[in-house]
Amino acid sequence: MDDCIFCKIISGEFNTDFVYENEDVVVFKDINPKADTHLLVVPRKHVASLNELDDELLMGKLLMTVKEVTKKLGISSYKTIINTGKEAGQVVFHLHIHILAGNIKL
Ligand code: AMP
Ligand code: ZN
Repeated sequence: MDDCIFCKIISGEFNTDFVYENEDVVVFKDINPKADTHLLVVPRKHVASLNELDDELLMGKLLMTVKEVTKKLGISSYKTIINTGKEAGQVVFHLHIHILAGNIKL
């Protein structure tokens, strides 16, 4: 999607470092961290929010990526958040899962 910041990150427009990536999902650091570790788990495919999700396999892939990346980083205790819709605090309308660990401020 042309005007989507996460699509631009995924396409490499900002040379963002991916903490982890696979065929379907990328993981990068949140620019405004609310914990010692604050990562965003993002599908390569543009889906605006959970409300628009129609791919039943994708959420499983995202959650398995949460498991894999936290394991890789040695993090066993963490919070996951999915904000859906403006009133719930969604700012970027490209589906993503927040991973927060250590001194969580949310
Ligand atoms: P949400 O409120 O769930 O939509 O979360 C969007 C998150 O994306 C916020 O925590 C922002 O700090 C983060 N964010 C916005 N732009 C960028 C960016 N260019 N790189 C990394 N994280 C970003
Ligand atoms: Zn997008």
